[in-house]
Amino acid sequence: MASPMVGLPVGTPVSPVGSPHNSSIMVIGSLNADLVTYTPRIPAAGETMAANGFRTGMGGKGANQAVACAKMGRRRDALARGTQEKDAVPVYMVGAVGDDVYGQSLTAALTAAGVDVSGVAVRTGQSTGVAVIIVDEAAGGENRIMLSAEANGSLAPDAYTASLPTTLAGHLPRLLLLQLEIPLATVLQILDTAHRQGVDVLLNAAPAQTLPDSYYKCITHLVVNETEASLLSGTALDLAVVDAAQRDKQLSRVAGHFLALGVQHVVITLGAAGVYHATASASGHVAAIKTKVVDTTAAGDTFIGAYALALVQGQTVADAVQWANRAAAVAVGRRGAQESIPWLDEL
Ligand code: ATP
Repeated sequence: MASPMVGLPVGTPVSPVGSPHNSSIMVIGSLNADLVTYTPRIPAAGETMAANGFRTGMGGKGANQAVACAKMGRRRDALARGTQEKDAVPVYMVGAVGDDVYGQSLTAALTAAGVDVSGVAVRTGQSTGVAVIIVDEAAGGENRIMLSAEANGSLAPDAYTASLPTTLAGHLPRLLLLQLEIPLATVLQILDTAHRQGVDVLLNAAPAQTLPDSYYKCITHLVVNETEASLLSGTALDLAVVDAAQRDKQLSRVAGHFLALGVQHVVITLGAAGVYHATASASGHVAAIKTKVVDTTAAGDTFIGAYALALVQGQTVADAVQWANRAAAVAVGRRGAQESIPWLDEL
């Protein structure tokens, strides 16, 4: 059955496709092959140096967050036995890959984590998105990333509504997860449609791009790191040199900017300094869990997956932040992106 909302321009009134929200999470976003080099330091311009190692991994913020939602809601051995846990939150991925080996590996990895990939299109003649990543091992696993969108760039503004009949049989998801590694026009169309449907949206505004002010009211949960928070709000953040009270004052000002534009919950992740969260009536800082850092790739995606899952399972925002902070600390202690995300029984 074709959705009556497919392809509607922003601003057109819509009625919900189907029946009430179920408990599912739908992630609409990027799928990338991660080409990761581990280095003793970052090479200088024009320099060739020996790396400590190389690996190909499955990534993309969309795929990582879908895997995070799925893995942390499931036990590793249940999927290995081929048994779906009956109370596990269903997770749907909507995106696009090329007809190449990376695309096949990405959908296989999503499936192995328990994600439904019926909404992932295979684009004939296109390449799958690629992220070239350097992990500086001497700098505590800090990473630098170059992205090439490829098939991710083909995700059209109707991607969400067009996917509903086949993925959710016309039902609406309980929570939509979006990032900014697909075309901005597509993200804005989805924000607008979901808002008019009454579907909660978590936007991870990464990589940072400025958004039109009028779309912030469509965002239920805005999750950003400190760089993204600063760029999107147009406010300089100087978190390294200030004490906790001064830090929270700056974060409160930035969060206040987003709340005033209509966001309901603002979450600012601060790497090794933990996380700050705010609503119109409450705010707080949670310190990071002390752990040995191996590779921070996908720390943010693990945080977001855990946070989203906890919300759909009925936890409060404050509890969801605490749980996500613990889950992300597990991920930074392991190498890689999706493989570093813990299963439920590893938390
Ligand atoms: P990435 O892009 O690498 O996935 P990000 O910039 O989106 O990361 P961060 O703010 O670096 O996200 O980290 C997300 C969360 O991961 C933090 O809020 C914290 O909970 C956890 N985390 C990150 N770094 C550390 C660390 N060194 N020790 C413990 N927890 C950490």
